[in-house]
Amino acid sequence: MSKRKHSKDYGEMTIPLLKQELRLESYDRNDNFGHQLVQAEQFNMNMPTVTEEQVKIYMDLYGQDLKENSKAMYKAKFLCSIRLASQKENVYICGRVSAEMYKNCIYNVDIQLDSLGVVQQCQCECAAGMGPEAHCKHVGQVLHALTKLKDGDKSPEDMFLQSIHVTAITHDEQESIEIKTCGQGTNKFWGEERLLRLHASIFGRICTATDRTDFPKLAESLTQYKNIKSSAIIQDRKYEAVARDAYSKDQSVFSFKV
Ligand SMILES: [Zn+2]
Repeated sequence: MSKRKHSKDYGEMTIPLLKQELRLESYDRNDNFGHQLVQAEQFNMNMPTVTEEQVKIYMDLYGQDLKENSKAMYKAKFLCSIRLASQKENVYICGRVSAEMYKNCIYNVDIQLDSLGVVQQCQCECAAGMGPEAHCKHVGQVLHALTKLKDGDKSPEDMFLQSIHVTAITHDEQESIEIKTCGQGTNKFWGEERLLRLHASIFGRICTATDRTDFPKLAESLTQYKNIKSSAIIQDRKYEAVARDAYSKDQSVFSFKV
């Protein structure tokens, strides 16, 4: 008896075609074979908005302000993580912040907010973080981070893309990047900025990717700059000056090298 070779690709078939192919005449009547699909109610935690004013009021109570140092440390990514939990009218925050001098030393910061986002209590594991009224730089960083959440329901991915000027960029930032990246391939900033964007040279590879594509390798090639030397690029570099001069002559325009 010869083995029957399955040449049909079931993955490509629509449900009606599959039913026909596999002779599933009773598929609909079976109604999922009697199993009821029970979906749990989606969990949704409401995070109160913490405003900069509320943070200032809390710090003012203890004669402190949100020192520039706290903001600078937040920007330098000393804050490792924030977790939230809510119970009744309160939201409990647990932040993990690296020590300024020893990055491997992590301080746990606990903060209690009410449903209006008003700071109720804070404590930190550092020497200056005695609760329930702690106002050290680690507490400051977590509070500062909470004010950033007011940007809405943006995911960390969206916030990151915005911070590197991919999904949002001002006119001034555009001009600054243009000046900084003059010279293209001969300028290392051009390579760095290029990695942040999808450009024409890589569209083909992304659009034609299939299940057989090595996606980690593709992602690596898109996020690590290499000085590519394809025959087309070499040809382009060799003749760029010649083409520019010829174009200038033909169009009677003045060109200059940047
Ligand atoms: Zn502290």
